[in-house]
Parts: sequence; structure tokens; C-alpha cells
Amino acid sequence: MNVLVLGAGQLARMMSLAGAPLNIETNAFDVISQKVVHPLTQSVVNNDLEDAISRADVITAEFEHIPHDILTLCEKSGKFLPNTDAIKAGGDRRLEKTLLDSANVKNAKHYVIHTRQDFDEAIQYVGLPMVLKSALGGYDGKGQWRLKSMDDVDAVWCEMDQCIQASSGQAIVAEEFVPFDREVSLVGARGKNGEVVVYPLAENIHVNGVLSLSTAIEDRALQAQAKEMFTAVANSLNYTGVLALEFFDVKGTLLVNEIAPRVHNSGHWTQQGAETCQFENHLRAVCGLPLGSTTLIRPTCMINILGEDTLPDTILSTEGCHVHWYGKTKRPGRKMGHINVCAKSTSELQHLMCSLAEILDKNAYPAIHEYANKWQ
Ligand code: AMP
Repeated sequence: MNVLVLGAGQLARMMSLAGAPLNIETNAFDVISQKVVHPLTQSVVNNDLEDAISRADVITAEFEHIPHDILTLCEKSGKFLPNTDAIKAGGDRRLEKTLLDSANVKNAKHYVIHTRQDFDEAIQYVGLPMVLKSALGGYDGKGQWRLKSMDDVDAVWCEMDQCIQASSGQAIVAEEFVPFDREVSLVGARGKNGEVVVYPLAENIHVNGVLSLSTAIEDRALQAQAKEMFTAVANSLNYTGVLALEFFDVKGTLLVNEIAPRVHNSGHWTQQGAETCQFENHLRAVCGLPLGSTTLIRPTCMINILGEDTLPDTILSTEGCHVHWYGKTKRPGRKMGHINVCAKSTSELQHLMCSLAEILDKNAYPAIHEYANKWQ
């Protein structure tokens, strides 16, 4: 099988690594350079997207902000999975909310803003405090505002209006501020035949809007609730592939924060913690192969490496630590790699995480230090 991935970042890279044992060959389309590259070496394998499309058995995507003309081209080939609607819903918060509402999936109260009058109506409807998010192009907490007091309305509107004017089709989605206890996510796969499998939920810790730690958790009641919501979204999109739902857990009730129509950072732990990793299951799904088991094989936590390109050697020599670099050039805050930390039991994992907090710098890995303070 030959799979063409739209996007040539770390997710395409990890798909390529997971596909090799199944004889699935992957190429990646770099949306910036407009070239088809090898996902590991980044060397150019084809300058012509249309030719690469005709050679591929299947086309899929590793991110949702894909130019619509490229999506149309891929959809026309009849080989593109999951589908354009799913990718568009993941890249536009308005479509995402419409999808959730029409699938009867709980999410935060919201209102779409194009004008100052809409903003006033949103304040009436949603109430303060509220979170405001750009409909297009926002990720990892970028393009967001918090409105806590009416004193700040003019200043926030000024920034939002600039954002709306800066790109065509842009709008702002106002959301009620959700007083969540924690953030969790569910990664799962839907096969071409409609079969749905999900991994255990992951509890996620974000720092400045960016994922920092993801830990697989076992919570039967929450898992059942999440799977029901996942299935509703996946079925209503007639989805094929891996899909992720991010939730707020409010006293045991889940609200969807966002959906990602692709393999997801909060599912990287599955590389060492699950019977079949999310990357392999995505390829299995889009290639029409049977889905692999999503069973948790050992307690696992993923630590994102942000803005750092080296690690102390002790990490590599520590039993249970698995390092994954993405081969990227260092930039402040950039996702450079991750460490999957595995143990035989939850208490051993907590112990191991506390010992890693002594090795990893507090400024670069603040969430592990918070974790260690909680469990020590
Ligand atoms: P997002 O880009 O939508 O994932 O938002 C980034 C982070 O902002 C989330 O992971 C939450 O920690 C926080 N956040 C987003 N939306 C809300 C909300 N409606 N209420 C409270 N916190 C939020």
C-alpha cells in the first residue's frame, strides 16, 4: 500500500515508522514547499502533487489547516480519507460547533461573532467570564482571548476586530468559561466498515495552552461517556481513520472542547502503552485493514519536549523511558519530541515521574515538577 499524507511534520513521520512493518509506504506532501517528501528524511520524492495523487492508493492528512483547493483535488481522486467535511470541521470552530450540536454532543455554550453588535449579543447570551477563539487558524491556545470584566470589552474587541479583518472568512467564537476539574481526551479509530475502537482516556496537562503531559487513565464511567460521544461524532462524519476528542471534565460530566480529525499529540503514549499505536491504527483504518487492539499494556505517561533539542543521557538509560525526536530545528516552545514513560504499575509510574522531575529542568518541563509536587 502507498499512502500519501497531507502535511510533512512529526505526525506523518510517526505514521511512516508505524506503517513500515505492515509494508505500508508513506510519502508526505509539504504544504509550504508544495513538494512531496519522504516523511523521515524530508528529501523530495516528487515535485508534482497530481502525479503523487495518481500513484497513491490512499490519501490522508496529518493536520486540519490544509488549503481547500488541495483538499478538493484529493477528494476528486476518490482516495481521500477521512473526508473533506471532517478536515474542515477540525479547522473551523464554527463548523465544529455545528457538528457537535447536530450530533447532540455536549459542548460549551457558544455564539459566533463577526461584528461589534454580535459581540454585545454574545456577552448577553454566553455571559462572563468567556473565552473567545478565532474560528480559523487557531491551535495550541493561539488566537484566543479571555473576557472577565466589562471594563475590558473595548480593548478585547479592538484585538478581535483586527483578527477578523486580517483574513477573509474569519470570525470569533465566544464560549462560556468552563470551570473544569481536568482536561481529558479520547483517541480512537473508525474503520471503513463503521467499526469503532477507542483507547483509554488520557488526562492532559497544558501549560500556556500547549500540551505538556498526557497520562493514560482508567475510569470506566468516564470512558463509557467519552466513547458514546466519540461514536456519535465519528458516525455523523462517516469517518474513517483516527479521530481525537478533547474534553473538559466537570464533576464527572464531559463537554467536548475540540475535535481533531487525525492522530493526536495526546495519543503518542500509545506507541509504548497500547497493544497497537494510534499511527498504525490510522493507517490500518484508511487502508481498509482490520483495526488493531487498543488495550492498555502498561501504565504510560507522555512528556512533550518543547523548545529543547537535547536531553540528559540519564533519560535514555532509565528503564521505562522511550525517547522520540522529530528531527526538527530548535525554536522556543516548538514541539521537538516526546518521552514515553512506562512502568509496571501506576504507583511505579508516579515514582518514576518524580525521579524524572529531579533530572529535567524546571523551566523547560514545568508540568513534571507540578506532577511531582502532587505525588511526592
Ligand atoms: P483550545 O485551543 O480550544 O484547546 O484551548 C486551549 C486551552 O484553553 C484548553 O486546553 C483549556 O485549558 C483552555 N480553554 C479553552 N476553552 C475553554 C473554555 N471554554 N473554558 C475554560 N478554559 C478553556
